[in-house]
Amino acid sequence: MHEDEYWQVVLEKDFTCDRLFVYGVISTKIYCRPSCPSRKPHRKNVRFFSNCETAEKSGFVLVCAVVQIKLQQNHIWN
Ligand SMILES: [Zn+2]
Repeated sequence: MHEDEYWQVVLEKDFTCDRLFVYGVISTKIYCRPSCPSRKPHRKNVRFFSNCETAEKSGFVLVCAVVQIKLQQNHIWN
């Protein structure tokens, strides 16, 4: 998928793509799943990663408590 398509998924909060990638916000150094209910960042501050590990290696951290619980329960991103 092209980055613009990833971004469209984030804007639409499409939960069906939660397993495909995560997005990080360079201004805050946090990352989350596409369907995160939090306020969306500016496009220019967003980077896309294929999984949590890649995002964390790039210095991003996951802060959404809901997501962390979901990830631990489902083990969907590895
Ligand atoms: Zn989130």
